[in-house]
Amino acid sequence: LFQQIEEAQPDAIFHLSALWRNDPDSRKVNLGIGAYRDDDGKPWVLPVVRKAETIIYNDPNLNHEYLSITGMPEFREAAARLILGADNPAIGEKRIVAVQTISGTGAVHTAAAFLSRFYRKDVPVLISNPTWINHKLIFKGVGIDIVEYPYWNPHTKGLEIDGMLKALEDAKPGSIVLLHACAHNPTGVDPTQEQWKQIADVCEAKTHFPFFDCAYQGFASGDLDRDAWAVRYFVERGFETLVAQSFSKNFGLYCQRTGCLTVVLNNASVAKKVESQMAIIQRSEISNPPAHGARIVNIVLHDPELYNEWVQNLKTMSSRIQEMRQRLYNKLIELKTPGTWNHIVDQIGMFSFTGLKGKQVQVLKEKYHVYLTDNGRISMAGLSSKNVDYFAKAVDDVVRT
Ligand code: PMP
Repeated sequence: LFQQIEEAQPDAIFHLSALWRNDPDSRKVNLGIGAYRDDDGKPWVLPVVRKAETIIYNDPNLNHEYLSITGMPEFREAAARLILGADNPAIGEKRIVAVQTISGTGAVHTAAAFLSRFYRKDVPVLISNPTWINHKLIFKGVGIDIVEYPYWNPHTKGLEIDGMLKALEDAKPGSIVLLHACAHNPTGVDPTQEQWKQIADVCEAKTHFPFFDCAYQGFASGDLDRDAWAVRYFVERGFETLVAQSFSKNFGLYCQRTGCLTVVLNNASVAKKVESQMAIIQRSEISNPPAHGARIVNIVLHDPELYNEWVQNLKTMSSRIQEMRQRLYNKLIELKTPGTWNHIVDQIGMFSFTGLKGKQVQVLKEKYHVYLTDNGRISMAGLSSKNVDYFAKAVDDVVRT
């Protein structure tokens, strides 16, 4: 049995982490995986998360009963309010359905599964080139065709807005358009508000269906509302949409798999039907979601004092990343490293698309023990006051040779 199976490639990013872990060199730097590290290179449990966990464990009524199929109701409501804005009319008018998912990946997957069953079968999903690798795997898995739209312009090291708009314009009407709500992965390049308006105009004219993947709200800019701007703008314009939310980065709850999928509809009467079908999908795949991370998020989002503390924790993370961008940029300028480097400070969020080429990445790995993906993406969180100069000098060297 199964003789014909070909061995698959390991996941590029997790493989990179394994290589880094096994590298005995003391100078080694892991810029692969998108997980926050403090300035000592250590994982950081948000202080507000520790407080919420104390509340959970001190609750004499705590038990480990199953959650309902679509998850914890208070958590789902709070998650939807967080992304759409508490006073969004769609919430008041009960035109939304929110389902607790296995983190952001599960939210994207549940959305894809839902679309494959209930959206038109004759249109593809349009995804940015490049995008988070899992987008392709997930949509391929549910049998929806994938068409790429240009996103990254290697010359400007910024957004290829004309190419993107043209691709959306040329696509089959009613296509699903997958958009990163903020802090685009892997490029760190987001449309400006003006460009979002242009994107919305094309989507409206072509009756495309926007699907937002939001993995970095609050983590990107340190401002929860600013990072939700694009999603709220599309909803305000009257689009029906799906929004996948992850609490991995903004709460540091990576392994707790905490997420939510929110459907925004134009008609409240459809909500009940959609929710019932989401429940069928969820039942067949995970039966019901895990509780711990959802309990933490739920406590923090419902307590004004803890909420404010969370906002401060988000600022701690986003400002450290911002500082690393600045220090890397300053050092490259000081070294007079050939090329332009403004994009390092202009890009946003966890990642920076450096523009380094495959061969240069190879040398960084082999000669300098610096691990990054072959497309030149670095996780800014892997840089610290201790290794940023070392990394800049390594980049300087590989760019010159
Ligand atoms: N979407 C994007 C674009 C991401 O970058 C990530 C995190 N790497 C996710 C979704 C979801 O990750 P998780 O399942 O860990 O929440």
